[in-house]
Amino acid sequence: MNPPPQRALAARLAGSLLVAAASLVGLGPPARAAVVLTAGEATIALETTGPPPRVGLSRLQTWVTGAAAIVRGYYGTFPVPRVSIVITVRGAGAGVDGGRTFGGTSPRIEVEVGKLVSDEALTDDWVLVHEMVHLALPEVDDEQNWLAEGIATYVEGVARVQAGNLAADALWQEYFSDMPRGLPGVGDRGLDHTHTWARTYWGGALYCLVADVRIHQQTANRRGLSDALRAIRDAGGGMREVWSVKRILDAGDAATGTTVLADLYHDMAEQPSAPDLARLFRDLGVEAVSGGVRLRDDAPLAAVRRAITAPPARRP
Ligand SMILES: [Zn+2]
Repeated sequence: MNPPPQRALAARLAGSLLVAAASLVGLGPPARAAVVLTAGEATIALETTGPPPRVGLSRLQTWVTGAAAIVRGYYGTFPVPRVSIVITVRGAGAGVDGGRTFGGTSPRIEVEVGKLVSDEALTDDWVLVHEMVHLALPEVDDEQNWLAEGIATYVEGVARVQAGNLAADALWQEYFSDMPRGLPGVGDRGLDHTHTWARTYWGGALYCLVADVRIHQQTANRRGLSDALRAIRDAGGGMREVWSVKRILDAGDAATGTTVLADLYHDMAEQPSAPDLARLFRDLGVEAVSGGVRLRDDAPLAAVRRAITAPPARRP
């Protein structure tokens, strides 16, 4: 449930400075504010604790509804009918300091922001989208935590591009830079057996990227990972339920008419399988240039790359 670690590290560093700063200024007893928001058919019981943020409580509410809209876009509907979200305003920081999602019959998201959290930080935030994506997948055994974190890490960026909240080249730049972190290192075993942060977050995200590409390839771009994930959510209660990994993968594969999820799980979960990332990015038309990446439309899988981030309504 924690953010991808290179981001978490920055948040932790900022947080430790800010806790010290907050204790100096003496923020007084925390205040509480509660409101019920809607996200389509779903309700979000939002509680805010701590000192009022500089941007105002109403801006925190539009942050929540904005993230919910991004996740609704990807999944068609909000992942669960009802969720509680607790925002804790703590410290004098200007950012979003991390979040956590809890399943069960009453799903709950907890997230922290600094008192000086900026409008821009909320607009560009990925943390709350990541946490809301967690709601859509049934809970899995600890061995498969990489699947939950990988889906949250991968879908967050794709969903934001689909919604116009993130530029496609920024997404592919991040994948190009960070997906190699998910490859097995010396001594690593399959994803079910090596639980380092790199393998958990980026190894899981790598599984999702390869699966998304393969589903698009095998269905002539008519289906993608989002169809599988929607079907898994629709077949159950999202994070309110606990499922076996086999049940999850079977439900997803049935929705795309492929065996991509099960086959790739077989390859990557039990042994340290390393997809050829250089070739994958080249085929997708993601080319490294000075200071970033260039997206090429003359690459063999450029249409797959574009289909992955196309808004759902514009898919063929
Ligand atoms: Zn997470």
